[in-house]
Amino acid sequence: MREILADFFKSVPTEDIAKVAYLTLGQIASEYEGEVLGMAEKSVLKAVAMASGMELGKLGKMLDETGDIGLTAEKALQKKPQTLVPLGTLTLREVFEKLHKVTSLEGSGSQDAKVTIIAQLLQKASPSGAKYITRMVMSTLRMGVGDMTVLDALAIAYTGEKKNKGILEAAYNICPDVGVIAETLVVEGLKGVEKIDVHVGRPIKMMLAQRVETLEDVAKKMPGKVTVEGKYDGERIQAHKDKKGKITLFSRRLENITNQFPDLVGYLEKNVDAKEFVVEGEVIAIDAAGKCLPFQTLMQRKRKHDVADFVMKVPVQLKLFDLLYYNGKTQLHEAYYTRTGLLEKIVSCGKHLTIADKIVTDDVEEIHAFFVKMLKSGFEGIIIKSMAEDSEYQAGTRGWNWIKWKKEYVKEMSDTFDLVIVGAFYGRGRRSGVYGALLCATYNEKTDTFETLCKLGTGLTDELLEELPTRLAKYKISHKAARLQVKREMEADVWFEPAIVVEVLAAEITKSPYHTTGSGLALRFPRFVKFRDDKKAEQATTSLEVMEMMKRK
Ligand code: AMP
Repeated sequence: MREILADFFKSVPTEDIAKVAYLTLGQIASEYEGEVLGMAEKSVLKAVAMASGMELGKLGKMLDETGDIGLTAEKALQKKPQTLVPLGTLTLREVFEKLHKVTSLEGSGSQDAKVTIIAQLLQKASPSGAKYITRMVMSTLRMGVGDMTVLDALAIAYTGEKKNKGILEAAYNICPDVGVIAETLVVEGLKGVEKIDVHVGRPIKMMLAQRVETLEDVAKKMPGKVTVEGKYDGERIQAHKDKKGKITLFSRRLENITNQFPDLVGYLEKNVDAKEFVVEGEVIAIDAAGKCLPFQTLMQRKRKHDVADFVMKVPVQLKLFDLLYYNGKTQLHEAYYTRTGLLEKIVSCGKHLTIADKIVTDDVEEIHAFFVKMLKSGFEGIIIKSMAEDSEYQAGTRGWNWIKWKKEYVKEMSDTFDLVIVGAFYGRGRRSGVYGALLCATYNEKTDTFETLCKLGTGLTDELLEELPTRLAKYKISHKAARLQVKREMEADVWFEPAIVVEVLAAEITKSPYHTTGSGLALRFPRFVKFRDDKKAEQATTSLEVMEMMKRK
């Protein structure tokens, strides 16, 4: 895939490279911009009818036969009567602009307007072009290419060496927008890419925490004094305020979630003393007395409608723990204590906006005591943060500057994993007619592939079993995902595009010839805990993490 893409990228004119990078991923903008296509099949079919002159009924039958909108459009256009003269050649720019127009239309009459725009595109398209355009507008293109593969291919195409991908990846962590990276690389070269910096309003990939086997190991990784903070089981939020005072909130998946939390926007406006900032924290639901409520309560705030009602019903608190940008200057490369020292100065703490609970210590007993205190307050555990000179904010990286310690770790030999659902097996007996087990995978960052780690059947309630086929339907594909590494013994009955992440509790990691993580590692007694809708497939537990946990056993 990399080689093919690299060859193709070489032939793309400079002015088109950003657009091509997005389209390769089946998108028309960076993910955080939220410009998602995904028109209904019925509307797309109408557009195909308009462009091909074929009756809607006939097209519907054709769709039943092919099972795919792309093949239907291709066939229909092949049969287009000669009397329908093509309206000129289709350019990439036109496709791109019209698709943007489609996502921008809202309100009454917008459906018809969208259909007309797509029909216009299809009138100019070749049959095979129509195949891809229709899939694109329904968001079912699924070439199986991820952002990392695009970065690899760009490195090969424009620097001649795959090893330069590291530079592109570092820039991508600060600017997770392949279009910007592609264009900068083509226009300004690697030097330009190296200069890519924080841009207020564009999310930064979030820093993640490592884990250790015992609390004593913390001192080996972080000698001397450390800061220990509470670990809250809520939702991570990265808040940006630009020069004009506009505040934008991003989730861990880098989605714009500003509309869900108008209350937080208000608190940040009033209680953070800075013209421009990027701060990070965890939002939790609280009761009238300010006590932390469970994750499920907070989830009621994940909504598009009745937002104002739920601001009242489910009050929240944002616990800030980092500062990434302040008044025109990036803070990413400052040490942890410099960043948080400044954060403490500019935030006026109150019930709804405050700084994470913390202690500074070099004593493992004190760390443990603080951990117990945090659990008693209803939190999930602690995060231990390095106070070394080089304790910078490692964007998009699970580095050793942060170590997490959760209550599950204390239970005997149990650990949690966030795995991607890549396949399912039909159930038998009581579970016939629904999925009996799910095939779950880790993410291998090095190869940008997914590797299987377990078959998950335990912990799935009847309710969940009912819900699963609907939840997964959108991601069903007719063949195994392009980036999935799977053994013959684990060929699933149904395959899915890697998209949905689940938290899985397991007793231990063992060797197994049936799975591909770490060339043959598997989970023993895996049990479903919950969906991790806040994570994308590429944010799942990595193969490397599992291999390291196995080594420490
Ligand atoms: P995990 O999802 O288990 O990998 O844990 C990392 C997550 O813990 C982060 O993405 C945050 O959402 C959350 N978190 C809670 N409290 C803190 C904290 N004090 N510092 C950093 N992350 C935190």
